[in-house]
Amino acid sequence: MNQNVLKVLSEIPDDVKLIAVTKKRSVSEILDVYHSGIKDFGENRVQELLQKQPLLPSDVKWHLIGHLQTNKVKYIASFIHLIHSVDSLKLLLEINNQAKRCNRTIDCLLQVYIAKEETKFGLDTDELDTILSSSVLKDLQNIRITGLMGMATFSDDLNLIRSEFRSLKSIFNQIKSTYFIDNNYFTQISMGMSSDYHIAIEEGSTIVRIGTALFGKRD
Ligand SMILES: *Cc1c(COP(=O)(O)O)cnc(C)c1O
Repeated sequence: MNQNVLKVLSEIPDDVKLIAVTKKRSVSEILDVYHSGIKDFGENRVQELLQKQPLLPSDVKWHLIGHLQTNKVKYIASFIHLIHSVDSLKLLLEINNQAKRCNRTIDCLLQVYIAKEETKFGLDTDELDTILSSSVLKDLQNIRITGLMGMATFSDDLNLIRSEFRSLKSIFNQIKSTYFIDNNYFTQISMGMSSDYHIAIEEGSTIVRIGTALFGKRD
């Protein structure tokens, strides 16, 4: 049993899902974690995901956690388990089209911009409202919006990180009680990485995306 997996699993509650983030990791490193019982893996780039997916067991659930370009959806639509990083209606429409072509439904999270950094992707609350109130949304039979995702500022300021996670939880509650009031699958908040997952869990995370704490430092 991989000791890092044991340690991280011991620190997260049973109802929080651990996604092992495999970017820049070798297949053998990933298999070691897989054989410790982890089946959910996340990549932030489509190209790297496509290289690894055929080399790993077929019961792996793949998560796309980085920015997704519309023209790349077709490559992952047949197998992707959850797309964490949806940041436009255009992307949602394309995911629906490609999911339909594959005869499946793809679960998606809307990525919300909560950090104080220009470099991060994501929607602000006005953009969220625009998407969620769009009349075309109800026609998208091959996607499900199952929650929200966010990334905190890369910072040592734990209060700042906490307040950003808290704001995501509050946006989640607000959306759930309006747009998803009659819905039982809008349940997920993907927040927390190696440096901040303890705080994220305290603030209501249901999915943590962890690389470094499982695999060690990336080059
Ligand atoms: C790389 C990455 C992670 C994991 O980061 P660690 O600090 O290595 O745990 C989580 N989420 C996203 C979107 C990432 O790109």
